[in-house]
Amino acid sequence: MNAPAPVKGCRDVPVLKQRGQREVFCGLTGIIWLHRKMQDAFFLVVGSRTCAHLLQSAAGVMIFAEPRFGTAILEEKDLAGLADANTELDREVARLLSRRPDIRQLFLVGSCPSEVIKLDLARAAERLSAMHAPAVRVYNYSGSGIETTFTQGEDACLAAMVPALPVTDARELLLVGALPDVVEDQALALLAAMGIGPVRCLPARRAAALTGVGPNTVFALTQPFLGDTHAALVRRGATHIAAPFPFGEEGTTLWLRAVADAFGVSDAVFEAVTAAPRARARRAVAAHAATLTGKSVFFFPDSQMEPCLARFLTRECGMTALEVGTPYLHTGLLGPDLDLLAEGPVISEGQDVDLQLDRVRSLRPDLTVCGLGLANPLEAEGLTTKWAIELVFTPVHFYEQAGDLAGLFSRPLRRKALLHREAA
Ligand code: SF4
Repeated sequence: MNAPAPVKGCRDVPVLKQRGQREVFCGLTGIIWLHRKMQDAFFLVVGSRTCAHLLQSAAGVMIFAEPRFGTAILEEKDLAGLADANTELDREVARLLSRRPDIRQLFLVGSCPSEVIKLDLARAAERLSAMHAPAVRVYNYSGSGIETTFTQGEDACLAAMVPALPVTDARELLLVGALPDVVEDQALALLAAMGIGPVRCLPARRAAALTGVGPNTVFALTQPFLGDTHAALVRRGATHIAAPFPFGEEGTTLWLRAVADAFGVSDAVFEAVTAAPRARARRAVAAHAATLTGKSVFFFPDSQMEPCLARFLTRECGMTALEVGTPYLHTGLLGPDLDLLAEGPVISEGQDVDLQLDRVRSLRPDLTVCGLGLANPLEAEGLTTKWAIELVFTPVHFYEQAGDLAGLFSRPLRRKALLHREAA
């Protein structure tokens, strides 16, 4: 049995809204995990050398492989409006596709520079789709850093795909969110064992496996940052299954239960399928909870996963949340998680980084979850930190990863304790 829901959760508590200087990566970062997931896709960033450097340094692991992303660099003459950037883009795309016949989906990814010169990538995508159909489908979305955070790149990418999905009347379950293949396979196996199907995924691993969507489609999100994709699917007539997100044993069970209910799965079948992995997840989390119990945590706004993680850490690992910051608070998606997060922490949306640094310095939490740019200075001030971006690069969903998720938070605390012991 899971712990009962708190008497008062955080769904309706006042939210501290801040609009000031922010410290986050831009949406281009999502290409790092999206290109691994979509095996016949190419991401062409239309941007500057800064964008190219961000991708190259963030994706350094790709240097031995033929990469499936690149940057069409906007030079000074493009920015000054002296060159026809569309002609150059068409030429670059033609060159790329003739060299890489394996590409089936091409994403033109907008950036700050392409937005500054108002390059219309939506029209470019339409034009290029017509030129290269049916072999290649061309989409566009923005990964620009202006007023965005890094997980919005995936949301914008998936939302861009929805209007092009074919119409279907089939009753199908759509899992939405780019999970590592091994984690996706675990989820599919659990759903299949309960007799739920057919199940499709967005994004699919290959273009040929892309799903249809229609009024009989029901969909479950696996990531809390997919607000635009959610809206796009609802516009296509699909129905969302609201649930806490599948982080930790409790989140996974409630997420699966909501999906199972939508497909009429009996309690007995649900119990038979989930009992063993639930027990494994509990044991794996307990191994880390010993380190985490009684400790406090403070979230800076980065990944939009913060409310779900605070729910997991407070309810399954015995931590106390002091502040739960998130770039955007989509209560329509996060409501079920917020219901389970007991009233107490400050819930903040957006950022004014100096004010938030003042708050973390005065509270001195045991663990601070923040971006790379803040982590080092805070460590130098004696605070223990966890990089938020690791939460999207590490497999953390569903039962078999629940222990690893807890481990991401317990490791920095154990390391700190070890260093203290050695120094003593
Ligand atoms: Fe920088 Fe904007 Fe390019 Fe992102 S899109 S790397 S924020 S210039």
